[in-house]
Amino acid sequence: MEKINVAIDGPAGAGKSSISKEVAKKLGYIYVDTGAMYRAVGLKFLDKSIEENDAEFIKSLNETTVDIKYTDGVQHIFLDGEDVSALIRTQKVSQMASDVSKIGLVREKLLSLQKNLAKNNDCIMDGRDIGTTILPDAKVKIFLTASAEERAKRRCKDLENSGQSADYETVLNEIIIRDKNDSERKISPLKMADDAILVDTSHISYEESVNTIYNIIIDKIN
Ligand code: C5P
Repeated sequence: MEKINVAIDGPAGAGKSSISKEVAKKLGYIYVDTGAMYRAVGLKFLDKSIEENDAEFIKSLNETTVDIKYTDGVQHIFLDGEDVSALIRTQKVSQMASDVSKIGLVREKLLSLQKNLAKNNDCIMDGRDIGTTILPDAKVKIFLTASAEERAKRRCKDLENSGQSADYETVLNEIIIRDKNDSERKISPLKMADDAILVDTSHISYEESVNTIYNIIIDKIN
């Protein structure tokens, strides 16, 4: 039977992953975090200067393996056989993920992994180009966004809750740079698909956001 695919795209910090994770659990679907795949590649090339056409980079990328496995419904990301799920959540890796994601060869490498997961599972897949490029025929497409200021506020709160210091202006600036990078790149930029439903969470709570997304999906699949 054909699998149900839900594509959720949007900018960094809009709440895509926490909302998608929770809604996927409610629906009994797997949650596929494609950002984690770009982060894994970013981690591999952290602190290296990468040149798209450099033979050494291409060789190293070809030898790289990125894989996803699920333990009790939780996604774990493997880079060259090692579980790097915890290592990819730093600001440095975010920036590097954004840099490597501009490279066509990197996107091609991750495309088949993403398409295969969607082919074999009912899933909610989140990212930047899922509705436009990876799953153009997804049953449900949502573009989840919030103002940059609101996203920065939430990010600061998360950092503070996890005991890290957070400077609002710095965080806001990083968000604006990443939005620009993701929206202006030539290949698969962050863009709302023509047939996606826009959900702006700037003025609604997390619980309301989860309910809104859940209801949109239920509406579309029934
Ligand atoms: O979603 P997350 O913030 O973890 O993604 C990290 C980076 O990976 C993004 O800033 C973006 O540059 C890239 N990305 C992408 N396409 C996707 C998912 C993530 O280019 N489908």
